[in-house]
Amino acid sequence: MERNGGYSSFEAFPAELREYYQRLFGREARDIMESLRTPVEKYYIRVNTLKTSRSKLMNILRKEGLRPKRSPHLKEGVYFERQGPNFHDDYEPGLKRVVANKFASESVYQGANLYAPGVLRADKGIKPGDEVQILDPKGLLVGIGRARMGAKEMIVSTRGVAVEVTLPKFKLPSLSELDSFKEGLFYAQSMPSMVVAHVLEPSEEELIIDMAAAPGGKTSHIAQLTQNRGEIIAIDKSMNRLKKMEEELKRLGVKNVKLIRMDSRKLPELGLKADKILLDAPCTALGIRPKLWESRTPKDIIATARYQRHFINAAIKSLRRGGVLVYSTCTLSVEENEANVRYMMKKGLKLEEQSLFVGSHGMGLYEVQRFYPNRHLTQGFFIARLRKV
Ligand code: SAM
Repeated sequence: MERNGGYSSFEAFPAELREYYQRLFGREARDIMESLRTPVEKYYIRVNTLKTSRSKLMNILRKEGLRPKRSPHLKEGVYFERQGPNFHDDYEPGLKRVVANKFASESVYQGANLYAPGVLRADKGIKPGDEVQILDPKGLLVGIGRARMGAKEMIVSTRGVAVEVTLPKFKLPSLSELDSFKEGLFYAQSMPSMVVAHVLEPSEEELIIDMAAAPGGKTSHIAQLTQNRGEIIAIDKSMNRLKKMEEELKRLGVKNVKLIRMDSRKLPELGLKADKILLDAPCTALGIRPKLWESRTPKDIIATARYQRHFINAAIKSLRRGGVLVYSTCTLSVEENEANVRYMMKKGLKLEEQSLFVGSHGMGLYEVQRFYPNRHLTQGFFIARLRKV
């Protein structure tokens, strides 16, 4: 089994991507990469105003044992403070080791238990009840806990908790078991992601199309802002994600959304002329936190930016004259963000100011909104609003 050496934040990014960040962000690059490696400092949820109010939900959450805080920017925003780090990267607790895959490691890192399917290896001799350390595949300590299974069982089992985590590196609140969650009183959504529906300024008379909708965070927010009135068409190509979205819309009590499974690049074939389109584009997701390590490179950025232009072309064709396109991504690259906005402007769209502005201005484009993980303590995110004139 490997040494518990871990690796630095710097090493968690491929060399080409590090160079790319240094070119783009200069001296800020290091801080950005440090932040990306940790969970967000403030973990946000959106109050479902179709069912409750912020003050009522906050009271319920307090009774459920949590410490909710009011967002200063969004009247439907509530957040919880992250706990941790609970130990340093080079801490060696001297315990038997369990190695988890990347996905499971990222969950443990934020406070979840380790489930058996996520276990890659376990030291011989681990017995139920033993205190163990959990490492990611590259040897970084992500948490400490108590084994619920023996070494062999946790490797072969396909279900069940393998290690109950008692000291994760960071701790975010676990919300999905709460009654308030089951009753659909809130939706876990990052702060920048909540800004998007406001920037769209939806109203109930409009036909609104969400071109990359699943699992429904922004669609359900639009429904909430239009009081379940108006017509929203939500498209996604992934059946699994649409199934999840259907359940979420039901939980939240959203009623004015029609789900369509299709490739959005073919949207013009539906012959619709929308008043507003949201394109929350599939992207390289470089802004998502936490990331134990990143595998994307500048090549992926170029390919993804090109892919996104197909969606942009389809959106422009399906928008009525005078209609509004809101374009957002959860990534940091300039190619997928400002460069694609310039492409839209070349195609005749006019860039507009945004009614809610919490982030920073864009790179060379004043009206667009960028969120930086180190400056705004959020996910990395981008929002632009354009009009077809
Ligand atoms: N807007 C969603 C929300 O707020 O919950 C998140 C959307 S996620 C950033 C991008 C989505 O694009 C994914 O659900 C993915 O399945 C979908 N997607 C990717 N390629 C697509 C395509 N060609 N047509 C339709 N949807 C696509």
